[in-house]
Amino acid sequence: MEVKELTFKGSEKTVLYACGACGLLHSPTIYACDSEKAHATAHRFAEDCCKPKVCECGVELGKSHYTACEKCRERKRLEAAQVVKAEDYHGVVQSETNSGDWGEGYFSDLGEISEHCHGHDETEPAYVFTCTEKLLQIDPESILLNAADDMHEDAHDQIEAADELFAFIKEWNTKQHCKTYYPNWKQVIILDQARFDAVLKQPTYPI
Ligand SMILES: [Zn+2]
Ligand SMILES: [Zn+2]
Repeated sequence: MEVKELTFKGSEKTVLYACGACGLLHSPTIYACDSEKAHATAHRFAEDCCKPKVCECGVELGKSHYTACEKCRERKRLEAAQVVKAEDYHGVVQSETNSGDWGEGYFSDLGEISEHCHGHDETEPAYVFTCTEKLLQIDPESILLNAADDMHEDAHDQIEAADELFAFIKEWNTKQHCKTYYPNWKQVIILDQARFDAVLKQPTYPI
């Protein structure tokens, strides 16, 4: 993009660089490096300001803050993931392409996928990610820190019977069964090898 240089009245020296498209100003004074480098950096930011961002495959990224398109990000995620055999995994799985019996792509078990997809007119996913779980628990230390937070400096040290609170919460925590699941993008279970391979073979560069 074209860069417009701004000067103070009566001076030839450039003090600011403006994006020729949107007019946004880029100042060299905000960079801690030497003047020449700072001017070059501000000039580059002004030049790149409204430049359309492009994925390595050639797809325009628009206003997305990602450096790769959705397909390339998914391909890279799968390339980096460890393949887990379906028979070696028991538990919740997640797929971006399906609703799931628990909603938002979560299936309570691999065995639920087929029936759920047929019942909801969905194509079965080519692959799913395993999930990690987080159990609802209370951290007694954070409660005490929170209680003493806006009190005087030594308040936390003057708390009595903290061990009783710790013992109670430890017991209480064992009674909790509420779990939240998160997709583990480092482990993938392949359900349809041909469709999985097709995702990995998406062209990296424009064809
Ligand atoms: Zn701009
Ligand atoms: Zn791409």
